[in-house]
This record gives sequence, structure tokens and C-alpha cells, in this order.
Amino acid sequence: MKTKRLLWQLFPANLLITLGALLVMTWFAASTARELYFDQMRQGLESRAHLIAHQVSSLVSASPEKLQDFCRQAGRHSATRITVVARDGTVLADSSEDPARMSNHANRPELQAAFAGKPGSSLRYSHTLGGNMLYVAIPLSAYPEKFPGALRLSVAVSSIDRVINSIYLKVALGCSLVIFLAGIFTMVVSRRIVRPLEEMRRGAERMVRGDTQHLLDVDSASMSTEVYSLAMSLNRMAKQMRERINAATLQHNELETVFASMAEMVLAVDTGKRIIRLNRSAAALFYLSPDDVKGKMLHGVVRNRDLHELVDKVLAEGEPVEKDIVLFVGPDKIYLQTRAVPLQNEQKAPIGVLVVLNDLTRLRKLENLRRDFVANVSHELKTPVTSIQGYVETLLDGALEEPDDARRFLEIVARQTARLDAIIDDLLTLSRIELNTDRDEISMIRVRLKETLDSALLTCQAKAAEKKINIRMECDDNLFVKINPNLIEQAVVNLLANGIAYSPEHSTVAVTAALVRQEERKDRLLISVEDQGIGIEKEHLERLFERFYRTDKARSSAHGGTGLGLSIVKHIAVAHGGSVTVRSEPGKGSIFTISIPQ
Ligand code: ADP
Repeated sequence: MKTKRLLWQLFPANLLITLGALLVMTWFAASTARELYFDQMRQGLESRAHLIAHQVSSLVSASPEKLQDFCRQAGRHSATRITVVARDGTVLADSSEDPARMSNHANRPELQAAFAGKPGSSLRYSHTLGGNMLYVAIPLSAYPEKFPGALRLSVAVSSIDRVINSIYLKVALGCSLVIFLAGIFTMVVSRRIVRPLEEMRRGAERMVRGDTQHLLDVDSASMSTEVYSLAMSLNRMAKQMRERINAATLQHNELETVFASMAEMVLAVDTGKRIIRLNRSAAALFYLSPDDVKGKMLHGVVRNRDLHELVDKVLAEGEPVEKDIVLFVGPDKIYLQTRAVPLQNEQKAPIGVLVVLNDLTRLRKLENLRRDFVANVSHELKTPVTSIQGYVETLLDGALEEPDDARRFLEIVARQTARLDAIIDDLLTLSRIELNTDRDEISMIRVRLKETLDSALLTCQAKAAEKKINIRMECDDNLFVKINPNLIEQAVVNLLANGIAYSPEHSTVAVTAALVRQEERKDRLLISVEDQGIGIEKEHLERLFERFYRTDKARSSAHGGTGLGLSIVKHIAVAHGGSVTVRSEPGKGSIFTISIPQ
């Protein structure tokens, strides 16, 4: 729509009012002046008529020629036309014309009034003289001669018209001046009104651009009440807008943070299966960048039939759907618990689908681990139990009668029982360490490390002596460390026991402990157990610390191993916040190192 500036709305109205007032005034003044002028003129003519009336009435009856002469002379001297009319309308004498040639004047209004006995007047155009004339007639019957006719005097009135015309001219000039002044005045007034409005418009535009910090300058002195309250309303609106924007921004940021940092993968698509957005976890799962894929088709970005079917189903049915799907990423299988829900706008119309994916891979792995563990434990326990059962049954079936066999069988039963005991002990140790690690209940104290290592050495001394193995120890007497001494002793015992078990006779097993200073990280305590034994093939190294993992089952069983020793060492190291590593060369020996931060 085309709009008009305020100036052009105010100006014509202002001008119209001013001009209207001026015209009315002028008309009023001019007509009053005209009336006054005619009144005076009329009175003047009437007085003049009375002055000569007596003489005229005496001349009417005396001599018509004399009357005509008198009229002509008197008329010339007074610049007035003088006419004497008989009662029947016949012109008896006239100062300007030959009465004989003049028509009957009975119907002239001023004369009709005079014939009725009263002075009469009329203003009209005279065809005889060609111009506007003022006529005044008086009756002559009131004079002594009692002549029933009338005496009429008339003058041209063009002079009054000239005066009035000059008034009109001045008024026209005045009007132009007034138009000019009204224009300037309106401009000044409209400027005064418009300036704060202009400022408000600029302020409102700033608000539209999002700058709600800037409020309008409100100056109650220079503003009208309406503009002042409008400015105040705008400022109030800006403040409210600012508060709302702040609240919305805060909420948006909170949601963004939650969305971005969610471990669950979230993916939103529109009804055309175009990606609206996806969070960081989802982007990482599909190896995408969250910003690059916005607006792209889902099937172009994620290739998984199950996921597409899920989205299609939700789009078709408008109901949430849950399903476990498997994603193949390279060689890895990723198990995803997936829940897809329809997205709706405020009018409850569908606008897309929100898919939440929960990575169950770790959980699945843990479950598998647990299952494997249970199977392993059962298997490990089953072997000695089956063996015990077998020998006990053989004994009961009669072998008891054979003292040599009976003794041999019972020795086997005793060995297997000890083995069972060892497995259960190790399992209990493991679960205790795990439990304490989980609860953060491993108590650490500052101890002289040498004492702990000596104690471990003492435990293994008998076995070493059996194989004539020499145990060498390198540890500073004054090395104090923060550890759980019982657990570290247990770990070193396990490593020493392995070293002795998997080494030939007359070899040496060395225990070395030292504190390694590190520049930026914490100091580390390194405890190494090195043997000159059979060593371990490379392919086993990775799985060596798993529960029940053994490179050679027969050899392990022969020395009473449970397959849990290294697993316990690893758990002890982890419980201390550290780790355990192994280096080994088949045929030459192995070195196990526990590293614990201090
Ligand atoms: P085990 O009770 O069978 O010794 P561990 O968990 O202590 O169980 O050890 C797991 C396996 O690692 C052993 O069966 C053995 O094959 C191998 N192993 C451990 N220590 C050594 C070592 N010092 N030298 C060679 N092989 C070792």
C-alpha cells in the first residue's frame, strides 16, 4: 500500500481549515461592508430626495418644462439621476433622459413602495444607463402640494464593487501568504511529531535485527503523551523480548548441550527421509560430520536396510517402533538397540522421525565374556571333580582292597582336591580384587618395598629350591612406595611362581624394582620379574592375561597352575591404577613388568 508522509496528511487539512475560515470571514466582512455602504448611500439619497422634494412637488403642478430643467441641473450638480414619476407610472421628468421616451415605471419596486406611502429602494442593473444602480424613491404626497407621484434618485454603484474587488484582491494575496505560512508551520509541527516516531522506527528495526539491548531514548519533555507512551510500550516490549530471547537461548543451549553430549546416538529425519540433524555420537557411528549431512537423504548417508525399514514403518504408522539392529562397520559388528518415534509439530501433524540408537556392543561383549567365564569356570572345576569322582568310584568298586592302588588313587584325589581348592582360592581372590576396585576400597599405604618383595620371595623359596633355581633381587633398601602390600606381594608371588615353573633347573629368576622419574607425568614404580625359561610364543602374548588362558594346558596343570595367576596380577595392577606388560622370546625367557603410578 502506498503511504503518505505525515506532513502531507496534516498540510491539506490545515490549509483547508485556514482557507475556509478566511473565505467565510472575507465573505462575511465584504457583505457587511457592502450592506453598510448601501445603507449609507440609501440614506444619503433619501436625504437628498427630501431636500429637493418640496421644490419638485411645486414644479410638478407649475410647469413640466421647468421641472425637467430643474431635474437636469440638479442631477448634473449632484452626479445623481433624478426622476419624477406620476402615480400611474408615467415619467414626468428625468435628469438623464427624455421623459417622453421612457417607459412606464409603475412596476419598479422602489416606486411601488413610494406609491404605497413609504420610501423604497432597489439595487439593480439599469438598461437605460448600462450599469448597476441604487434607486431610492420617496412619496411626494406628504408635501403640501399633495402630488400623488414619487421622486426617485439613483446613483451608479460601480464604485462599491471596485472597493470590494480590491478587498478580494488583498484577501487573495493574504491567502497566498497564509498558505505559505501554514505550510511552514505544518512542516515544523509535523517534524516535531515525526522525529521521535522516526527514532522509534529505527529502534524497532534494531529490535527486529535482534539488538534488544538498545532501548529508545524517552524524553517526556519533548514528546507528546501519545508518542511518550508508545515509546515506553516499545521499551517494555524490548525488555520482555530480551528476557524471552535470553530464556529461549538458555533453554536452546541446554538442549543443544544435552543433545551433543548424549551417549545415545540421535538422528532426526523429515517425512521425505532427509536428515534434519544428528548428534555427535550418531555422526561418529556413521563416520560423518554432523553439519555436512544436514538436508541429505538418509539412504545416501547410512546404508542399513533395517534402519530404513524402521523409519518407513514409523512414517507409515505414526507409532513408535523398537528394534535391535546390527550395523556392519568394516569388520566390526555393532549391536544397536533402536527406538524410532514420530516427530510432530504443534498441530500434531507428522514432520519426521526421531531415531535413538543405543550401542549395546560393549554390553553384548561383556555378556559374552561372562558367558565364556562361566563356561570356563565350570569346565575348570568339572575336570578335577570328574577325576575325583572317577577315582572315588573305582575305590568303592573294590580298589580299596588293593592298598597300593588305593594309596595311589587317594593321592590323585588329594591332588585334584588341592587343585579345586587352588582354583576356588584364585577365583575368590580375583572377585575380591574386582569388587574392591569397583568400590574403590583398595587401601594404599607407604611401605618399604624391599620388605614386601622379601616376603614374596620367602613364599617361593621352597619351590625354587626344589628346582635349584636362584632368585636374585635388586631393590633399594630405602625405596618407599605407596601400594597395597598384600596385593603386590600376591602379584609378585604369582609372577615368581610362573618364572620358577616355566624355567629349567639351575636357572636364575630376577626380581627388579625401581622408581622411574618422569618429567610431566607421575613417577612410576616398575617391578619386573625376569626368567630364563621357555618363553612364550608371540601369538599368545595378547591373550595371556585372560582368565584361564594357558599356552600349554598340560604343562600348566603339571605345576598346579590354574590359569588365573596372570589374570590376578593384571587385576592387582589395575586396582593400583597401573598396568602389566610382558616381553618374551621363546626359548630365551620372559620378563613381566608391573607399572604403578606413585
Ligand atoms: P598358570 O596357572 O597356568 O601358570 P597363569 O595365568 O599364571 O596360569 O599363566 C598363564 C599362562 O601363561 C601359563 O599357562 C603359561 O603358559 C604362560 N606363562 C606364564 N608365565 C610364564 C613364564 N614365565 N614363562 C613362560 N610361560 C609363561
